[in-house]
Order: sequence, then C-alpha cells, then structure tokens
Amino acid sequence: MALLELKQLTRVYRSGEEDLAVLKGVNLSIDRGEMVSIIGPSGSGKSTLMNILGLLDRPNGGSYEIDGRRTDQLDSDALSALRREHFGFIFQRYHLLGDLSALGNVEVPAIYAGTSPSDRRRRATAILERLGMGERLRNRPGQLSGGQQQRVSIARALINGGEVILADEPTGALDRHSGEEVLRILDELHAEGRTIIIVTHDPSVAARAERVIEIADGEIVSDKRQDKPLLVRDTPVPEPAKSHRFPGIDRLGEAFMMAVRALASHRLRTFLTMLGIIIGIASVVSVVALGAGTQKKVLSNINGLGTNTLEIFPGKGFGDTRSAKITTLKIGDADALARLSYVAAVTPTVSTSGTVRHGATVANALVNGVGDQYFAAKGSKLLAGRLFDLASVKAMTQEAVIDTNASKALFGDNPATAIGQTVFLTDVPARIVGVIEAQQGGFGSSANLQAYLPYSSVQARFLGDLSLRSITVRLNDSVDSNAAETAVTKFLTGRHGEKDFFILNTDDIRKTIVATTQVLTLLVAAIAVISLIVGGIGVMNIMLVSVSERVSEIGVRMAVGARRQDILQQFLIEAVLVCLIGGTLGLGFALAIGFVFSLLVTDFELVYSTTSMVAAFTCSCLIGLIFGFMPARNASRLDPVAALSKD
Ligand code: ADP
Ligand code: MG
Repeated sequence: MALLELKQLTRVYRSGEEDLAVLKGVNLSIDRGEMVSIIGPSGSGKSTLMNILGLLDRPNGGSYEIDGRRTDQLDSDALSALRREHFGFIFQRYHLLGDLSALGNVEVPAIYAGTSPSDRRRRATAILERLGMGERLRNRPGQLSGGQQQRVSIARALINGGEVILADEPTGALDRHSGEEVLRILDELHAEGRTIIIVTHDPSVAARAERVIEIADGEIVSDKRQDKPLLVRDTPVPEPAKSHRFPGIDRLGEAFMMAVRALASHRLRTFLTMLGIIIGIASVVSVVALGAGTQKKVLSNINGLGTNTLEIFPGKGFGDTRSAKITTLKIGDADALARLSYVAAVTPTVSTSGTVRHGATVANALVNGVGDQYFAAKGSKLLAGRLFDLASVKAMTQEAVIDTNASKALFGDNPATAIGQTVFLTDVPARIVGVIEAQQGGFGSSANLQAYLPYSSVQARFLGDLSLRSITVRLNDSVDSNAAETAVTKFLTGRHGEKDFFILNTDDIRKTIVATTQVLTLLVAAIAVISLIVGGIGVMNIMLVSVSERVSEIGVRMAVGARRQDILQQFLIEAVLVCLIGGTLGLGFALAIGFVFSLLVTDFELVYSTTSMVAAFTCSCLIGLIFGFMPARNASRLDPVAALSKD
C-alpha cells in the first residue's frame, strides 16, 4: 500500500473576488522508501503541494491518505501529532529559531513529542555529530553558515524519527558546494530507507532522485521513474525515544524558558511594559497601606478616650452654645451612675483654662478636675511620682498631676525633677505629685499643657460651682455599649426630667471610623485599580506586537509539531511572567515608598497587610492571564503555512 496517496486533490486560494486554483486535481501516490523529486517552474504549485503533503495545509477537495488513513477529518491537534511523528521539514530558508543554539533547535520537535530531556539531548547531539556539526552544538544560527544551518535543520527533521523528509528547495539558498553536501546527506538518509520528497526547480538536483514528477500550473504533467543503482536499503529500526514521565510539565518548563528568553531579548521593551503593572500594583498596595495607617492612627486617638466608655456632656451635642450654661450635670449623677450594675468606674470631669506658673515661667494650661479613676479609665501612663486617690478627692487636696508637655515646659526633659515642686495654677498653688505621658493626638490639641487635680478641688477653688463638664463612664467589659448608652440615657433623663445631655460612645465612634476609612480606602483603591487595568492593556498591546513579530517562529514550531495549546501556553506564560515580575517590582516599590515615608513622617506609618500583598500578586497573575489571553490565542490560531511564509 502507498504511504502517501493523493486523489483528485485541489487547492484553491481565494484572492479578492477571484478564486485561484493552484492545484487542480492532483493524483499521486508515493511508496515507503521512495526518493521523489518534484520539479516545475516557479508558481506552479510545488510548495502548496508540499505543505499539503506535510499536513501544514489542507486541500479544498479530493482526499489525502497517509498509510491508508484519511486526513480530512483530523483536527489541528491530530494533524500536529502526525507531523511530529512522521514528517521532518527542511526549508529553503532553514527557519531556525534565532534564540536557540544548534542543539536547542534540534531538540524542539522532541520537546513537543514528549521525549525526556536527557534522551533528546543525547539524540540531538548524536545526529548533529553525524552531520558534521559536532563542533558547533552551542552556536546560534546567526553564527553558522548557510550550509551549516541547513544541516541543523536536517537534524531537526530527524530527531523524532524523520520517516518522511519533506525538503522544499533545500539547496535554493546555498552555494554549490554546500548544496552538494546537503544533497549527499539526503541520499544517505534515503539509503537508510526513509521516504524523501524534494521540491526543486533545478533539473540537475531533480535528476538525483529515482522518480521525478513534473508539475506545471497545478497539474502533474509527467511522472518518470529512472533506474538508479540503489545504495544499501536497510530500513532503519528507529530507536524508540524515551518519553518524559510528565511530558506536559516538561513542555510547560520549556515554554517558561522560551518566555524568559523572549523577555530577556527585549529588556527595555519588557521593562516599559512592566512599568504600567509596577505603578498599578505599587499604587494599589500603597493606597491600601495608607488607608490602614490612617485607620490605625485615628483608632489610637480614639483609644485615648478609653475603651468601652461613654462620655456624658451637657447640651445637645458638640457646638451647642448653651452647653456651658447647662449646669444640671452634677456629682450626684456620677455617684448614681457608679451604683449601676453594668458600670465599672465613673469619673466626673470639670475643666477650666488658665495659666501655670513656676518661678518666672508662665504658660497657658488646661486645668482638669477629675476623679481618682480617671487615669485608669483613660489608660494614662505614669512616668514619675504617683497619682492621687479617692482620699485626695474627698479631702480636696491641692495635689496636681501634670502631663509631659507641662513638665517639659516648666522643668525640662526629666519628668522626675517636677515631683514635689509647687506651681501656681492661675493663682492657686498646687504641689506636683505625678507626671503622666501626654495623650497623643486625641480630640483637642496634644500640644496643650494639661494639669489634673481632684475634681472637688477644681470645683471648690477654681469654679465655685458644682456642675460637671463631663462624666466618663467605663462599662463592664461584657456590656454592650449601645445597650448601656440607651440605659444611661433613660436613667439620666429620669433624674433630670429632660434630656439636657448627650453621650459620646467610644465604641460607636470606633466602629464608624473603621467603616468610614474602609469605604474610603476601597474607593481610592478602586481608582488605583484603574491604573492596573491600564497597565494590563499595555501588556496586551505589547504581547500583540510580540506575537506579530514572531509569526515565523510560531510557524516553525507548528511545523515541527507544536500543538495550538503549546503556542497558547508559551505566550500566556510570557504575559503572566511580565505581570508577575512587574507585580513583584511594584510591591518592592510600594515598600520603598513606605520606607521613605517613615523617614519623613514620624507620627504616622503605612500599614502593609499580607492580604493586600497576596491580593496584588494574584491580581498581577490574573491580569497576565486575562490580557495575555487574546494575543496568545491569536498566536495559537495562526495558520502554519501563512506563518511560515512570513519572513
Ligand atoms: P511554487 O512553490 O511552485 O513556486 P507555490 O505553491 O508557492 O508555487 O504557489 C503556487 C501559486 O499559488 C502561486 O501563483 C502563488 O501566487 C499562489 N499562492 C501561494 N500561496 C498563496 C496564498 N496564501 N494566497 C494566495 N495565493 C497563493
Ligand atoms: Mg515554492
């Protein structure tokens, strides 16, 4: 049975409105082990016929059977499998991959065939040595002469077995000597029993074959056999290639290496493409960190108000001008609140502004009258001396605790020197018993000098009035602050007969702030994501350029047996790699911004969360996949013949 059998085969090219019939009912059958040359003038359809024989192109009509198997129903993967297993192509212009060494080029078909790395290296080396290229294994095509490149391409045709060698004008670009050498190799391969089909327009080349088919204007015009003394004809038993245990993973690894090489050969372009992703990722991560930092800062300010506390103020709300005149918040209220079951501690506050004087130093200060539990409720940090206690409150002592702002202003940096000193608060003398750390930020300026005295003393000696400025209620830990707020409101309204106070619920404030900053962060992050998307579009754009630049490479890969999926994978990996490297650099950039920020701004820091970093990473991967998909799919859908004819 014939190995290759064409019946009434037609191929029509559609150019514009007109159909151009290039092959017009070709009948041809080629037996195993034949050496056939196809000769004819330029444009007669030789290459078209060759591409159909090699399954790179499909006919429009008629049938083509390989070993009795019809090929018209096969899908592109089955065709590439047949190409890999049976055919070896030799092109006029060699079509080697410029980024790969001679050895690398020869190995490509074996990668797609799933041969194990060590086996394919060994085979490629052996074939190249046999073809006299042993010294040139590591050279790239650019470093080889035409004849040498053609020998590499012959080796590539042989690596998977090369049962049928299709050589389209193999000597067309070579000088006489190199051409002769190539033909000698083809003779040798024929002698081993391979089927060889050579397309040529040179009668002296054609005459070397035992069968010469002449084609003119898409039709076979003559088919002559000439008796030639055959060399040895011992059909080689091709040594079966050892397959890789995980061919898919091997191909993935190769695709990865190809992607790295492609990126490395266009470094500047790759970097510029990445820039979009770098900026996008850096801005998303930084914005989220900024949001988290803001939230942390604001929360730490709120925490200055104490945890799980209610602050009760006279009036209807902040800014109520009458609140200063409302004097119904009394110490009795504080005492009554203290007796409630869900209340842990109560501390009344009164305050007045005045001056603090020590010797010749005078400064404005806020004089706070507080209860003994005030410091515990606020979580104040004692730096020197002691705090006053209930006994001091009862005795209305003139003991003062000052904050570090005040102690610095009056006594210098060491808080201990303030202890035991007497100062004049406005005109009232007071002895300093302790120094606490100034509240950071908080509501109200942190730069104020603060002095704390028992509220009873402040009421008696400064205000002459028993109303309170506020009551801070610390709730038991297990108590829900909202329920407690309602209960306290009801309780105090009952005592006063009307609601002439308002309550600040620190828990509520905290929740509101958390929610607000989260919404704001999300909003700004959404804007930053836009820059990420723009970056992704940049990647897509460059990938499209990259695909169109490498059309001929794609054609070669398909000719030697790459599946569509292999091509898709290669370009997808390239896109994802660009985005991943860009994402990593962007992350580094964001961290660098945080570092510079921390040098410039001391009381505020960017808070980087692992989640946002992981999300950024995943995001860049996804962008690579999404924006790389279209170009990669375009590449994988290229028609191998069209791709090969691009040069
Ligand atoms: P040969 O290899 O014998 O020189 P080809 O097989 O390459 O000839 O081409 C045969 C004819 O088909 C030529 O006239 C050429 O212009 C035409 N042809 C080849 N490829 C295409 C194509 N992709 N689209 C349109 N016409 C084509
Ligand atoms: Mg041609």
